[in-house]
Amino acid sequence: MKSAWVERDAKAAVERYGQAGVPADLALRVYTTQLLGRDPKLVLHGGGNTSVKLTMKDLVGEEADVLCVKGSGWDMGTIEPAGLPAVRLKPLLKLRARAAVPDDEMVRVQRANLIDPAAPNPSVETLLHAFIPHKFVDHTHASAVLSLIDQPDGEERARDVYGARMGTVPYVLPGFGLAKLSADVFDKDPKVEGLILARHGIFTFGADAREAYERMIEMVTRAETHLAKNRKAVFVSGAIPQQALSVTDIAPVLRGACAIKDEKSEGAFTRFVVEFRSSDTILNFVNGRDVADYARRGVITPDHTIRTKNRPVVLPQADAGDSGWRDKVRAAVASFIDDYKTYFARQNARVGGGRTMLDPAPRVALVPGVGLVGLGRTQKDARIAADLAEAAVETITDAEATGRFTPIGEDDMFDCEYWPLEQAKLGAAKPLPLAGQIAVITGAAGAIGAATAKLFAAQGAAVALFDIDAAAVAEKAKSIPGALPLTCDVTDAQSVADAYRKVVAAFGGVDILVSNAGAAWQGRIGEVDDALLRKSFELNFFAHQTMAREAVRIMRLQGTGGCLLFNVSKQAVNPGPAFGPYGLPKAATLFLVRQYALDYGAEGIRANAVNADRIRSGLLTDDFIKERSQARGVSEKDYMSGNLLGREVTADDVAQAFLAQALALKTTADVTTVDGGNIAAALR
Ligand SMILES: [Zn+2]
Repeated sequence: MKSAWVERDAKAAVERYGQAGVPADLALRVYTTQLLGRDPKLVLHGGGNTSVKLTMKDLVGEEADVLCVKGSGWDMGTIEPAGLPAVRLKPLLKLRARAAVPDDEMVRVQRANLIDPAAPNPSVETLLHAFIPHKFVDHTHASAVLSLIDQPDGEERARDVYGARMGTVPYVLPGFGLAKLSADVFDKDPKVEGLILARHGIFTFGADAREAYERMIEMVTRAETHLAKNRKAVFVSGAIPQQALSVTDIAPVLRGACAIKDEKSEGAFTRFVVEFRSSDTILNFVNGRDVADYARRGVITPDHTIRTKNRPVVLPQADAGDSGWRDKVRAAVASFIDDYKTYFARQNARVGGGRTMLDPAPRVALVPGVGLVGLGRTQKDARIAADLAEAAVETITDAEATGRFTPIGEDDMFDCEYWPLEQAKLGAAKPLPLAGQIAVITGAAGAIGAATAKLFAAQGAAVALFDIDAAAVAEKAKSIPGALPLTCDVTDAQSVADAYRKVVAAFGGVDILVSNAGAAWQGRIGEVDDALLRKSFELNFFAHQTMAREAVRIMRLQGTGGCLLFNVSKQAVNPGPAFGPYGLPKAATLFLVRQYALDYGAEGIRANAVNADRIRSGLLTDDFIKERSQARGVSEKDYMSGNLLGREVTADDVAQAFLAQALALKTTADVTTVDGGNIAAALR
């Protein structure tokens, strides 16, 4: 590992932040924190923290000695000065004389001494930073260091590699206890350049930003050098399938098995989005004969437990020829969940009760012959779980190649997983209504499709945008965080199958289809060309069927129901003159909705439709509106609001109707009218 310090960049940071009144030491603290945070071998997703001690003016202009320490909610790789809140140092140092400080009191003291009362909560490791007298203190969970110390004789190994340059601290849960113990170790030999925290990570210190940072790089490099020597081959390969199932076969089955039924609301599930990973290192790991042993010993550093749980679920061989594979996956997940519940009950009893069990579903699955899967309630959480799982694979591989991977025990793991200060990192926000659900929206570059995709994403769904116009759909997706734009011709079965495959590979399956793509053709029905009528049927009927059929196939693999939503149009019940080529296939689609509702209701798959009318869109362009309103001798406004309510109907109104149908778990075969009121088009 090489130092990424660039003198010119450091100076630029001092100058840039200096213009905003940030002192040079804090500017350099931000600079090296970003350097550490950008290397995944040092720090991942909110792990690690840094600090600097300096003097600054408080809000009334008096000089104060402060500790600027990473605030919760900030990522080291992207930190800014605001992410290092200043806390008065003296009150923190006073705590050291105490025998114990409860967590809630520690947090209150830290918050009460913030210079800026609006600043984020300082890190759970703030006191450790305060008690070490060095000006700059850096802390990471470097993979190489974890491979070195997650060993039965980890402390001895650390002493072999570092000699007297680093102190070693036995494992203790972060907080006051760890801070005091670390400070005691430091005091015994104040010449140490850092501390190794058993089964947790590494601290380095320095008089300036560069010294603390480059000591971290040097110490991690020493661990890397040690791991490169005396390696034995890992792992002995187990039986792997001759022909493995593909990710697109595996993911829907896995996410279906992991979905947790909501006992309070029939038909509702806690669902997960998945993120797949594979590489030579991952395959070597998951294909090992003893994977169920080394992969399930525990987390490489304690704070991973809130993201990955204490262990992954190991799935059965994904053999394409095994017709019983789906049942085996469900059994493996059910057994994981049972084990988790037993673990929770055992540990909750040990601590005297009072904890509330987190959802027991796995967050990481290992698939022999294929790779690993991260699961999360959002795409972001799934990605974090996959990143941490990948880091665990590398760390455990190196630990096993040089010794025996030995993490913290179950009691310590539980204390960390159920530590309120760790859980606080995840935030207490209630999950969004569509959290964990995957929605496919066709015609997504159009007005109604785009409005629906945007609304569903805002409600927590992972959204895939299908459209025949590649450039337009890519552009729409830019404004929707996490959206997956895909070019798809919905009238071509192969194009549809390919696009669904990409959705499943990216998110894991599909729960909601909004089959929206359509186009209006006109002509008096007795004179219209057959070819035009058939073309309209292809898009306005058969494409809905192709999209729905493929969605249902995936939904049935998941086994957690699903929701099919169709844009039908008022033409299906109230034909307009010369609109037969559009209305006839839409009428057939209205019955398609009812047929799906009937045939798949018993499996929890619902089918509903929206009949919208007169929406500004690709079908009803501004030019067309102008022409129609002039032809009728009314203003554009009167033309657009010519309905019972006298209100113009928008694409957002249609999106709201689709959302209501997606959330109405007891509603199927419904048609919702979104047209401002048109009594001739009212359903009877
Ligand atoms: Zn830590």
